[in-house]
Order: sequence, then structure tokens, then C-alpha cells
Amino acid sequence: MSIKTNIEEVRRNIAAAAEKSGRKPEDITLVAVTKLHEADEMNEAIDAGATDIGENKVQEVLRKYDDVKPVRWHLIGHLQTNKVRQIIDKVCLIHSVDSFHLAKEIEKRAAQHDMICKILIQVNTAHEDSKFGVEETEVDGLIKEITENCPHIQICGLMCIAPYEADPEDCRPVFRKAKAIYDRYDAGEHNDRIDFRYLSMGMTNDYEVAIEEGSNMVRVGTAIFGRRDYRSEEK
Ligand SMILES: *Cc1c(COP(=O)(O)O)cnc(C)c1O
Repeated sequence: MSIKTNIEEVRRNIAAAAEKSGRKPEDITLVAVTKLHEADEMNEAIDAGATDIGENKVQEVLRKYDDVKPVRWHLIGHLQTNKVRQIIDKVCLIHSVDSFHLAKEIEKRAAQHDMICKILIQVNTAHEDSKFGVEETEVDGLIKEITENCPHIQICGLMCIAPYEADPEDCRPVFRKAKAIYDRYDAGEHNDRIDFRYLSMGMTNDYEVAIEEGSNMVRVGTAIFGRRDYRSEEK
């Protein structure tokens, strides 16, 4: 199976899930997750129509940035404050903001570049200890702190990661909780500090269920590029 065929299949599945939930296929953004894949594979995906790509590590963005055709880069993994400086002007959306400490650093670097940085708040509705993200009860407080103190940040929505489930149906409650928070803000103010537009949830195992539960941005790697070789991560 080629990357192109895989993307076409994922797009068909996205379209079916979107229609099931009363939306249009184009309402869902596909972020092709390219971690541990090389620039040539990424360019193949871009040639096949991928417009958005996601990396979970700053080093991966920097390593491949110059070899990849023009595309929108998303930072989807945990971001350390000391690395913000390196990617602030390279990514269109940071999905993984889960502390005011991190937001303050983004604010500082965005101000230096005289830019507005778009972010999502990562919410941990799965209540998994191993996962990053803020608890549901902390979301409002964090959003308030950021909107009041960070004029160079625009909060554009939420991101959530469901734990791997053998049956993706079991992910529904996790997605549903994130959607409920998202809806509250989507119904609220939209301005240059806060403009809820993206609910980033769904990966290879569960993106169709996530879309049915209201996701409008899915982050899909394995279904497009095949299984990742984690041994190469050491290099
Ligand atoms: C790796 C990763 C994905 C994609 O996972 P697949 O199962 O390969 O689709 C999505 N989101 C995040 C945050 C990731 O780190």
C-alpha cells in the first residue's frame, strides 16, 4: 500500500464518519503524523494532498524542516519550555499546552517574533496518570490565566488523547467529555485571544469514533505511513 492509497482510504473513512455526525468531510482537518518518518515520505504525503503534518518532538521538526515541501506543521507532543524558542516560528498550531508555565514561555517568544501563536489546551479527560494534559477542572482556570496575561497567544481549542483501547468504542466517554468543554467555549466569545475552532482528537485506532463524537481535527500516523520503527528513535 502506498502513502497515497492510505491517505485516500483515511479520507474516505473521515468522510463517512463526518456524514454520520451530520458534518461535511471538509469540516475535518487531517493532520498526517510523521514522527520517525523521513522527509521523502513526508513529501510523498504532501504530493498526495496532505496539507497539515504533525510532529511530537521539536528535534524531529528541526531535523526535517528544510527538506520538506511547504506545509503546515503542527506540534502535537509534549513541549518543554526550553525548546519553545526553536519552533515558535515554524509551527502553525501547538496542540499540547497544559500549563501556564509553558504558556508564559510561548508568550515571551511570540512577542519577540511579533507574532500571535495559536495553541490548543491539552485536556486529560481520560484521567490517565501517564498522560500529559490538564484535568477538566483545571481547564477554565488555565484559559483565564492565558487570556488575561498572554496577548501573543490565541487559544483555538482543545486537544485530547484517548488511551489505546482494543475496542475504540471504549474511547467515546473520553472524547465526549472533551467535546462538552469545547462546546462551552465555542458558544462563548470569539476574539483575538480566544477563538475555539479546533477540537483535536482521534488517532489511527480511534479517529472515526472521535469524529462521531465531534472532533474536527484528527492526528493520524500509522494508518498513513505504516508502523513506526521506534528503534530508530535513539539516533
Ligand atoms: C503519534 C501520535 C499520533 C498518531 O498516532 P497513530 O496511532 O500513529 O495514528 C497522534 N497524536 C499524538 C499526540 C501522537 O504522539
